[in-house]
Amino acid sequence: MKVMKIVILDGYTENPGDLSWAGMEALGKLVVYDRTSLTDEKEIIGRIGDAQVVITNKTPISRTTLDACPQVKYIGVLATGYNVVDVDAAKEKEIPVTNIPTYGTAAVAQMTIALLLEVCHHVGHHSQAVFSGRWESNPDWCFWDYPLIELDGKTMGLIGFGRIGQATAKIAKALGMNILAYDEYPNDSGKALAEYVSLDELLSRSDVISLHCPLFPSTQGIINEENIAKMKESAILLNTSRGPLVQEQDLADALNSGRIAAAAVDVVSAEPIKGDNPLLKAKNCIITPHIAWAPKESRARLMDIAVENLRAFKEGKPVNVVNL
Ligand code: NAD
Repeated sequence: MKVMKIVILDGYTENPGDLSWAGMEALGKLVVYDRTSLTDEKEIIGRIGDAQVVITNKTPISRTTLDACPQVKYIGVLATGYNVVDVDAAKEKEIPVTNIPTYGTAAVAQMTIALLLEVCHHVGHHSQAVFSGRWESNPDWCFWDYPLIELDGKTMGLIGFGRIGQATAKIAKALGMNILAYDEYPNDSGKALAEYVSLDELLSRSDVISLHCPLFPSTQGIINEENIAKMKESAILLNTSRGPLVQEQDLADALNSGRIAAAAVDVVSAEPIKGDNPLLKAKNCIITPHIAWAPKESRARLMDIAVENLRAFKEGKPVNVVNL
């Protein structure tokens, strides 16, 4: 195959400068854009131009874009979820779309526990309080601003018990927690780690509830007023999966009224977060900007798989194809 033109539309979050695109560069003539408009189709089309290979993370590739860029022969998505590409339009044009099926299991599990530990100890807040002089001027030898929570003996319920859910459970077990799981497809590795229960039982028995199922029509809004009403008043909700799994107004209301104790989320319904997101004003809510996937080690793995996906396509044996 002659030298391919490769366009990366939004490379910055994958590689803000601490990784190298050399692997991709070795496979063709590479052009990397840090960001491309998510809404201006003219810009997207202009940047793809006559490229044969398009690599995207969150920049949408629509049917109109594919019609306007007939040289495109391959679309690589730098993520697991590939809903940004019109895969049916790509399929009709026999353009393979590839994804990165798994790269960040350990990182997302670690972040889930980091969020939980932050709820339990508010390390960041207490450190800031010390640096602002509060300890120096404190009448006692220690102080704390939030109830501190010990996890040993408490119960974690995981909704969605696949790779990340099970990796999270292993860490939670090491902290002394009992594990419940709800999953449509229980499996043997899961049975070795957790007691599988119904969703209702998980909601009522868990001290900590953590979301690890994919976003499907059946799971959208799974955390809503009705299901929150089944939780303990002391429950802590964690979401490192997808924002729309949670009805954010219902969660904000529950936090503000004390119906549940706390929430910590790495994902929200619209990203970047909108100023009117009700969670921004909710009590006892921690929000991080979708960073669970992003340790350098995970991004390096993602980069390697993206390069291997393109190499395999070039060699006529495509892998991780999601649409053909
Ligand atoms: P996985 O496919 O290994 O596990 C998902 C599990 O959910 C499966 O066991 C599946 O049977 C189960 N499931 C499917 N439908 C369900 C339903 N209706 N109710 C309950 N369980 C259901 O996926 P994974 O690698 O563990 O990833 C889980 C999710 O984590 C992804 O879907 C993604 O949304 C999210 N994620 C977030 C980040 C981040 O940076 N925050 C990074 C990677 C993945």
